[in-house]
Amino acid sequence: MKLHGTMRINERGHLEIGGCDTVELARRFGTPLYVLDEQLFRQNCRDYYAAFTQKYGAGVIYAAKALLNLAVCRLVEEEGLGLDLVSGGELYTARQARFPMGRVYFHGNNKSPEELALALEYKVGRIVVDNFYELELLNRLAGEKHTAAEIILRLTPGIEAHTHEYIKTGQIDSKFGLVIENGQALAAIKRALEMKNVRLHGFHCHIGSQIFELASYAHCARVMMDFVGQVHRETGWLAGELNLGGGLGIYYATGDRPPTVQEYADTLVGAVAAAAAERGIKAPRVVVEPGRSICGPAGTTLYTVGAIKDIPGVRKYVAVDGGMGDNPRPALYQARYEACVANRADQSPTEVVSVAGKCCESGDMLIWDIALPSLEAGDILAVSCTGAYNYTMAMNYNRLPRPAMVLVGDGRADLIVARETYADLISHDRLPARLRKDKRLSVASAR
Ligand SMILES: *Cc1c(COP(=O)(O)O)cnc(C)c1O
Repeated sequence: MKLHGTMRINERGHLEIGGCDTVELARRFGTPLYVLDEQLFRQNCRDYYAAFTQKYGAGVIYAAKALLNLAVCRLVEEEGLGLDLVSGGELYTARQARFPMGRVYFHGNNKSPEELALALEYKVGRIVVDNFYELELLNRLAGEKHTAAEIILRLTPGIEAHTHEYIKTGQIDSKFGLVIENGQALAAIKRALEMKNVRLHGFHCHIGSQIFELASYAHCARVMMDFVGQVHRETGWLAGELNLGGGLGIYYATGDRPPTVQEYADTLVGAVAAAAAERGIKAPRVVVEPGRSICGPAGTTLYTVGAIKDIPGVRKYVAVDGGMGDNPRPALYQARYEACVANRADQSPTEVVSVAGKCCESGDMLIWDIALPSLEAGDILAVSCTGAYNYTMAMNYNRLPRPAMVLVGDGRADLIVARETYADLISHDRLPARLRKDKRLSVASAR
């Protein structure tokens, strides 16, 4: 397993993160356990801030759907980034963390009237309008509140990024955004410009996630700038802001070779600047929305090994006490991960095994065919790069409580998400009077 951030192997041969022995963390907080490396999370924010904001004056908005809780909001704020939020629940979380709402972009392809009203009430920095329905709705809601909505329009640039089908978003046949090619985007701009209660600042696009090819980004920036130029010629209105989304890929396992954040910044801002110069227009301010590339490598999940099933000549299954409930990505996207045995991190691999989860689904496999030192029940397995789209996609399938999360740094470990309890699992269940056992018994005895 590649070591990320503050990971190291300590004198006891244990994996250490943020100066904390992960075997101790497992003992103290239980497993499965999400471990977040504070220094690496902050460093990734700083890399973006330096590459985009300090070098080019560009904006960096952390995409909260990758990982969000109160503590993460505070880290993001302290590092000077904004937040990209997509629901009332995310807005509420940021508000409760007292995140500065002027730094928030509010996204979504079907924001409800209540969510839009909340965004207006909180005075978020930008609402990213996805479609005509939302544009009209927002104009009306803002009017009712005697305010103006600061918006950008989400556009579909018609680009096919090389990534998994479900995380592609830039192609024309997508549920997201207004299509440039068929004139809908231009029609929406004209409509927005004549509206009283919305102020249009620019455009947004997002071509997908876990993308390694900088050429896809450069191409996207050029397509968007062609459109900025076209709109300027046809309407006289010049976009002041160009939000090019997120999606930069990260290293999960061997073979993944992501570009650096600085290369990404130079590519995007360079392409926008060149296109603006060609057209003799002022370059719009670039904004990016990284999620995975900030939080992904900063997260590690600790599991305890349980049942080991060797089917001679076929496969050896090693089952852990979590799985698709805390990390649905392998089941959803065939995502690959690396792992190590945290309590024997200094040992060389001796066998190839497959790591299974504990859910009642054959598809609940975390890692197929990984070389590890010979495992036994009670070992602690650490799966790396689980910071993005694990906790936020976690579920209670099979009524498994969702894990706790600890923030580690400088030898300290602070609980930032408590482990769910069995009582939490039934806390939203309601039993109608006619189904209550005491009631049923009395009815039965009355007969
Ligand atoms: C998911 C998403 C992001 C973040 O994507 P990452 O791959 O996590 O960087 C940014 N912007 C939009 C609109 C998204 O949907």
